[in-house]
Amino acid sequence: MARDFVTAAIHGGYDRAAHGEAANPPIYASAAFDMVSAAHGDALGAGEAEGFSYSRVANPTVDVFERRLAELEGGVSAVAVASGMAAVSYALLCAAEGGGRIISPTNLYGASVDAMETFFPQFGVHADFVRDINDLDEVASKIGPDTRAIYTESVANPSTEITDIEPLAELAHRNGIPLIVDNTVPTPYLFRPIEFGADIVVHSTTKGITGHGNAIGGVVIDGGNFDWANGRFPQFTTPELVVSDERKGIARSFASRFGREAFIRRVRIKYLRTFGAVPSPFNTYLSMVGLETLAVRERQEVESAMHIAEHLTHAPHVLKVNYSGLGNTGQYDLVAKYFPKGIGTILSFLVDGDENNVRRILDGTEVFSYVPNIGDARSLIVDPARITHREVPLEYRHAAGVSDNLIRLSIGLENVDDLIADLDQAIANAY
Ligand SMILES: *Cc1c(COP(=O)(O)O)cnc(C)c1O
Repeated sequence: MARDFVTAAIHGGYDRAAHGEAANPPIYASAAFDMVSAAHGDALGAGEAEGFSYSRVANPTVDVFERRLAELEGGVSAVAVASGMAAVSYALLCAAEGGGRIISPTNLYGASVDAMETFFPQFGVHADFVRDINDLDEVASKIGPDTRAIYTESVANPSTEITDIEPLAELAHRNGIPLIVDNTVPTPYLFRPIEFGADIVVHSTTKGITGHGNAIGGVVIDGGNFDWANGRFPQFTTPELVVSDERKGIARSFASRFGREAFIRRVRIKYLRTFGAVPSPFNTYLSMVGLETLAVRERQEVESAMHIAEHLTHAPHVLKVNYSGLGNTGQYDLVAKYFPKGIGTILSFLVDGDENNVRRILDGTEVFSYVPNIGDARSLIVDPARITHREVPLEYRHAAGVSDNLIRLSIGLENVDDLIADLDQAIANAY
């Protein structure tokens, strides 16, 4: 990266001169754009000219956000979408469409497990789940002729287990398969998977990137290093009209037309254009305002999360704290290698008693809000078994450590002593 992260978070992807010298990227509330001349319209339609024609495919406000996030993740290009789940779905289906299989752990975001377990199979895309994504022998044993992607989360939610990205990417590449990583929990400030070999990164920008719980959004970022024409991905090598020119007798595929950018172009030109989960320019604007302070927020929240995790380790009624940043887990080497600035702002803990005690803790906090979100400036508390992982089969839920006495915290920007006092009183009053 040519310039530092914090500089790019504020200036990346934005050329003031192209936007009336506005200090902030303006909100382009326009569904469509003048194509100026017939020749330019023809070139835009053919994808030969840069520019905007219709906001379902691209919009100038959204374009700044996409360029900024691509720079921050060290990718070549990005497509912003209306939610994190749109980003996950588009990326996985784009890789595996047409009967492909995805290798994945089960300790994922609940809706991602549900998508692969019960929904994508309806579209002919199947998952091969592994017990431990860091067990390379187990992962290798699942690779078959139809495997089209390995999918994981850099830091799992709510267990905060870490994926050892580098050897996993090497295994994937030896077999001509891309590694797709959901990097939502650490955000690109704490971790950049592409630097360790990941090919595609997805985010729910709803979380730490936007940082204030005020806009749903997602993004797919392409590292630009994967060869989609290696024979495993017919959808990239089959000629398609949308990138061809029938009148001139030119037939092209996404791989022949876009080379190493084939994936991200296909996400935009097929998935965004067809399924249409387009982010609004207003939400994108909110996300960009939030993104400007990502680094300072993460630094403060990670520091507080560390204090709170340490405090809970010795707190009454707390049986176990899940926060791999603590360094008391088997993953300490991975933390040192990948997460020198911290693993993120969520943690979880197990309490004794039964679900009534859990309910009393949830109802008893005054600073922590009972909200099913993470990465907000407000601190949040939730019971994953009933809320975020409700749709996950019991077997997988248990494998992910999501039992009925688990509580997840997302640490915000309040004073850390206030947060600790709030947890202490809620726990004390619950027994
Ligand atoms: C929240 C979340 C998602 C889904 O994002 P939405 O913006 O809610 O659609 C996906 N992955 C992870 C890890 C998440 O935390």
